[in-house]
Amino acid sequence: MSHHYDVVVLGAGIVGAACALEFTQAGMRVAVVERGVIGGEATAAGMGHIVVMDDSPAQFALTRYSQLLWAELAPTLPENIEYDRCGTLWIAQNEEEMPELQRKYIYYQSLGVPVQILDSSGLTEAEPNLSTSLVGALLVPEDAVLYSPAAALFMVQCAQKMGAKLYLEKTVVRAGESEVLLDDATMLRTDRIVNAMGASASTVTPDLPIRKRKGHLIITDRYPGFCRHQMVELGYLTSAHSVTSDSVAFNLQPRRTGQLLLGSSRQFDVDNGFVDRSIVKAMVERAQRFIPKLSSLSALRIWTGFRVATPDHLPLIGAIQGDASMFVAVGHEGLGITTSLATAHLLLDQFLERTSIIPLDPYSPSRFSVTEAHA
Ligand SMILES: Cc1cc2nc3c(=O)[nH]c(=O)nc-3n(C[C@H](O)[C@H](O)[C@H](O)COP(=O)(O)OP(=O)(O)OC[C@H]3O[C@@H](n4cnc5c(N)ncnc54)[C@H](O)[C@@H]3O)c2cc1C
Repeated sequence: MSHHYDVVVLGAGIVGAACALEFTQAGMRVAVVERGVIGGEATAAGMGHIVVMDDSPAQFALTRYSQLLWAELAPTLPENIEYDRCGTLWIAQNEEEMPELQRKYIYYQSLGVPVQILDSSGLTEAEPNLSTSLVGALLVPEDAVLYSPAAALFMVQCAQKMGAKLYLEKTVVRAGESEVLLDDATMLRTDRIVNAMGASASTVTPDLPIRKRKGHLIITDRYPGFCRHQMVELGYLTSAHSVTSDSVAFNLQPRRTGQLLLGSSRQFDVDNGFVDRSIVKAMVERAQRFIPKLSSLSALRIWTGFRVATPDHLPLIGAIQGDASMFVAVGHEGLGITTSLATAHLLLDQFLERTSIIPLDPYSPSRFSVTEAHA
C-alpha cells in the first residue's frame, strides 16, 4: 500500500513530536513513524530541564528561543507534563568561580535574560539545604522543568487530532528520495522526510557526525519542599566538555511529586545501558559536597540514557545535501528537550523558505564534511 504526505517524521521522541505538531499546525499532511513507545528512548531518560545555556552564541540563541517557546506553550500543557518554572541556580563553590558567575550574569543580562546574583546568605535563603560553604549563585528565573515523555505524547496526540497519521510500532528500514519504507512493507511517499531518530539516525542517514554519550540519573523518594530550584554547579560545562574521560557534575531537580532527580554523568563510547556503580558513587559524592543532607535520603530508581553529540555540541537541523527530500533533526546532546520546539520552528522556516528568528547556519548539517563525519 502507498500513502502520500507533505512531511514524514521519523521517530517520535520529543524532537519528532515537536516537529509533527509544528508541521501539522502549519496545515501540512504529516505522518510520524515510531518503532516503540512515544518518547520512550532518550526523551524518557532525560531530566527535562528547560535551560538557557551559553556554551557558544549559537547554543545560547537556540536554547533561549526554545525556552521562550516553552513558556508560550506552558498555559496549554496538561498537568501531567508537570511544567514548572522553578528557575535555575548556577552555584559557585568558591571565590575562584565568582568571576565566571559575573561573566555569565553580564552575558545573560546583555541579551535580555532576567538574572540575579545571590550571595552566600541569599543562596541559603533560596535553598536552605545547601552547604553554607558555597559562596553564591546566579539565578535564572525563567528556566523550567517538565516531564518530557508526557510532553512528547501530548504533542503527538495534538498533531493526530489535527489530522496527522501515526505509524506506531513500525520501524523505518529505508528513507530517502521522497520515500520511506517501513518494516511491514508499507511505502510512504512524501515531499519531505525529517530524520528525528536520535541515536539511531545514522541507520537511515549514513555519515552523520554523531556519537552517543551515556548518562546516569537517580530519582529519590518523595521529600516535598526539600529544594525549590533546579541546581547546577557552575563547573557543569567543564564536565560537559570533557570528550576524553568520564565526568560527573552536580545537577539536582525538584519534581512536582516531591521527588528529587539527581544528575549527571557523561561517558563517551560506552554502548551498554548498564548502571555503573562507580559512576553513581561519584555522582552522589559530588552532590553531597553541595547538599550534605542528601546522604539521609532514599533513592528509588537509577537509570541510564544516551545523549547524541556532535563535534561542536550543536545539533544538526536542516537539509542533507544530495537528496532534496531529506532533512535531519538530531544531535541535540543534553539539550534536546529544551531545544525541540525551536528545532521544529527552524525546520518549518526552511520548508516555507521564510526568514528564521535566529540564524540557521550554525545548525546546518553541511557545516561538517564527510571526512569529519568519519573522524
Ligand atoms: C541522562 C540524560 C539527561 C538529559 N537531560 C536533559 C535535560 O535536562 N534537558 C534537555 O533539554 N535535554 C536533556 N537530555 C537530552 C534529551 O533527552 C535528548 O536530547 C532528547 O530527548 C532527544 O530527543 P530525540 O527525539 O532526538 O531522540 P529520542 O527521544 O531518542 O527519540 C528518537 C525516537 O526515534 C525512534 N526510532 C529510532 N529508530 C527508529 C526507526 N528505525 N524506525 C522508527 N522509529 C525509530 C526511537 O524509538 C525514539 O522514540 C538528557 C539526556 C540524557 C541521556
